[in-house]
Amino acid sequence: MTTLSPPRLDVAGITRVFGARAVVADVSMAVGAGELGCLLGPSGCGKSTLLRIIAGVDRPDAGTVRAAGRVLSDDTVHVPPEARGIGLMFQDFALFPHLTVAQNIGFGLPRARDRAARVARLLDRVEMAGFADKYPHELSGGEQQRVALARALAPRPGILLMDEPFSGLDNRLRDEIRDATLSILKAEGTAVLMVTHEPEEAMRMADQILLMRNGRIVQRGAPYNIYNNPVDRAAAAFFSDINLIDARVRSMQVDTPFGLFLTPGLADGTRVEIVIRPQHLRIDFDRDGRGPNPTVEEGTPARGRVERARFLGGESLVEFRMEHDGSMLKATVPGVFLPAQGKPMWLSLRRDRCFVFHEGPEDTVRVRSAS
Ligand code: ADP
Ligand code: MG
Repeated sequence: MTTLSPPRLDVAGITRVFGARAVVADVSMAVGAGELGCLLGPSGCGKSTLLRIIAGVDRPDAGTVRAAGRVLSDDTVHVPPEARGIGLMFQDFALFPHLTVAQNIGFGLPRARDRAARVARLLDRVEMAGFADKYPHELSGGEQQRVALARALAPRPGILLMDEPFSGLDNRLRDEIRDATLSILKAEGTAVLMVTHEPEEAMRMADQILLMRNGRIVQRGAPYNIYNNPVDRAAAAFFSDINLIDARVRSMQVDTPFGLFLTPGLADGTRVEIVIRPQHLRIDFDRDGRGPNPTVEEGTPARGRVERARFLGGESLVEFRMEHDGSMLKATVPGVFLPAQGKPMWLSLRRDRCFVFHEGPEDTVRVRSAS
C-alpha cells in the first residue's frame, strides 16, 4: 500500500466574514512542492484576504490551513506567522531602505556560519551578484523585485505566498522578470501560491489556476483547461474579449447566424448563451464571394460586413455586422490582414470551440454544443 504524502499547502473550508459579508467563502485548495498555484480574480474578490489567512496575519472564521499535513490554523490552533515556514512577497517589495542588498537578503537568516554563503548563492541565482553592497534606492524596480524574491527565499520556506508581485513593474520588464522568477521558484522546489488579477500573468506562470469570484473558487485547473472549458460566461469573459450570441430555444434548437444549434432537453423559451472567443471566428477566404458550403466541422458559414477593422500589430481586430440578424461579432485575424470597411465576407466557426450555456433552475449549466 502506498501512502500519498500531504500537499505542501492545503486549506480546507476557509471562510472569513467582515461585517455581514463572507469575503472568503468556504475555500478549499492545495498546492504541492514545486507547483505554482495562482489565485486569479477581479479586485475585491478576496484573494489577499485568503493569502493573509494562510500567512497567519489574519485568522479565519472557519476552516483549516495545513502545511505538509501540520495544522497551522483551525478552530483552536493558530501558529504565529513567523513560525509557519512561509515566505511572503508583496507588490511593494518592502525592502529595508537602510540595509544593503546583502543585508536585506540575509535579514531573516540565523547568524550561522553559512549565512554569507546562502546570501551569495541567492545573489547569484537572481543575477545580482555585483549588487551586494548597494542600497535599495540605488536599484531599478526590476532589481528590487529580484532582491525581494531572494529575501523571501533565503530561509528556504516550503511555501511562498506572492501578492501581485509584478504589478509594480513596467510592462516590458515584467515578462522577463516573470520568466526569471518562475525558473528560480522551480529550481527551489517551493510550493507557491500567487495572487493576481491579470489572466495573462496567471496563464504564463501557473500550473494551476484557481479562479475566484465573490470569495469563492468558481473554477480550478491548468491554464489550457480553464481557458478552453470555462464553467460559465463570466469565466470565459475573464480571459478574453468574447462574442455573445443570445438566443431562445425553439423546438429543441436555437437559431444563430451560423445555423441551428441543437439544444436537446431544453424547454422552449430557455435562454441560451453561445460564447465565442474572437480568435475562434475565422474569416473564410476560400469561400470569399461564394455561397455557403457547410461542413460538419465548420458548420454553416455566415455572411457579415466589415463595420470596423483595427490593426493591432501582431493581429487585427475586425468587427462584423451579421446579415442574419444585424448582430455584431468580433474576430481577430493575423495582422497582415486588414479588410476595408463595408467589405462583405464569410465567417465560419468551429462548433467545438463555442461554449454553450443556458440559464436553468440549477443556475448556469454547460450544455454540449452540437450541429
Ligand atoms: P483582493 O485582494 O481580491 O482585491 P481583498 O481580499 O483585499 O480582495 O478584499 C476583499 C474584500 O474584503 C474587499 O471588499 C475589502 O474591502 C474587504 N476587506 C478586506 N479586509 C477587510 C477588513 N479588515 N475589514 C473589512 N473589510 C475588509
Ligand atoms: Mg489584493
